[in-house]
Amino acid sequence: MKLVIVGSFAFDTIETPFARRERIVGGSGTYCSLAASFFTTPGIVGVVGSDFPEETVNFFKERGIDTTGLEIKEGKTFFWEARYGNDPNERTTIRTELNVFKDFKPVLPPEYRKAGIVFLGNIDPDQQDGILNQFEAPHLVAMDTINLWIREKPRSLLELLEKVDVFFANDEEIKMLSQETNLVKAGKKLLQRGPSLIVIKKGEHGALLLGKDFTFGVIAHPCDEVVDPTGAGDSFAGGFLGYLDKVKSLTTRDFRRAAVYGSVMASFVIEDFGIERFKTLTTQEIKERFIYFKKLVSF
Ligand code: AMP
Repeated sequence: MKLVIVGSFAFDTIETPFARRERIVGGSGTYCSLAASFFTTPGIVGVVGSDFPEETVNFFKERGIDTTGLEIKEGKTFFWEARYGNDPNERTTIRTELNVFKDFKPVLPPEYRKAGIVFLGNIDPDQQDGILNQFEAPHLVAMDTINLWIREKPRSLLELLEKVDVFFANDEEIKMLSQETNLVKAGKKLLQRGPSLIVIKKGEHGALLLGKDFTFGVIAHPCDEVVDPTGAGDSFAGGFLGYLDKVKSLTTRDFRRAAVYGSVMASFVIEDFGIERFKTLTTQEIKERFIYFKKLVSF
């Protein structure tokens, strides 16, 4: 059951209270697929401009990521600029330039169509829908989004939600989309729109999994320095879905463990800017942090 990850492949300019980095590689598809690559060999779907570094595409390949579905188009890569406040959960988008993503209507490579798990990472919900319709019969469809699409295309998002099993979103996005102020109420309202599981990401406070008759909380790694919170959400999704693809089983127990692996992967990516931490990360470190997480909540 191949995992296929759809998402943005981007240049990001990131400003935190302590540093600024211009045009570093980012994107929902980038973070998610790199995190998943520590568990399985995902395929990716997305588009980059001719300015996207070949070195990054080679890094994807070295990590076992199938890049057949990554289109390289004449033009500029998607660009996003954001600033973080003293609280890493506070993020302001300064600029979003869709560039080559604007008219992106991919035709899925034939070997992707039989995917067992599909992740519709954060891109325009109409594009997410157009891609989802090309898969034959996935066992699990997950999706993510960002406040821009909730603001601009709420109807498309709600329609797409009906076709999705797992919805990943942060607390602010869940409240915005459901128009509720209480997080649990908001999650339950969205559960009625189709998904069987809502994964509410709460930044440094961990994540809450809400199912129809299942609730699970996972803490975030207590770290004393967050260098760059970008990609934490997508890396969570990558760890979560990569683990499920590896164990090839979708029980409640698997979802709980997947959530811990999601939290583990998010905890690593924020230790450095962009995708830097994934360049040195080892499976041994992942194992050790998983055990540490277990100890943290055992009483
Ligand atoms: P996260 O921090 O996990 O929410 O994801 C951040 C990544 O999402 C960044 O690397 C951005 O390039 C990407 N991103 C931001 N806004 C959008 C958007 N509107 N559509 C697609 N990708 C986006």
